[in-house]
Amino acid sequence: MSRENSVVTSLAGRRKKNVTSDMQTDPTVHALMQCRGGCGACCIAPSISSAIPGMPGGKPAGVRCIQLTVDNRCAIFGDPRRPPVCSSLRANIEMCGNEASVDATRVHAMRVLVELERRTGHG
Ligand code: SF4
Ligand code: SF4
Repeated sequence: MSRENSVVTSLAGRRKKNVTSDMQTDPTVHALMQCRGGCGACCIAPSISSAIPGMPGGKPAGVRCIQLTVDNRCAIFGDPRRPPVCSSLRANIEMCGNEASVDATRVHAMRVLVELERRTGHG
């Protein structure tokens, strides 16, 4: 299993168990990495079934979250209305990559997350 396949499998497992953690920016987590501000891939690629302010039915895979700002940041970060699932995925090298630019980070993460959706049947 490739490293990327491995992380996809791991993420899929976490998703099924609904384990909570933190997406979009907890710099201390998992020795992983800090979320790269302005990426936004994990607010676009995955489907979210829980209600999001402005998207009461959640969002389909590949659709930009309504709370994602034009500069690709969460408009409701730290707000209790932010869905718990948004805290269920932390930035990590395997998902987010180790790219030099935010655009390359987004490309990497989109590829990994689209594959995750495909494997978990959410996409
Ligand atoms: S994919 Fe990674 S770097 Fe991009 S917004 Fe999500 S946690 Fe941050
Ligand atoms: S609510 Fe915020 S963290 Fe969750 S998908 Fe939307 S923009 Fe991303």
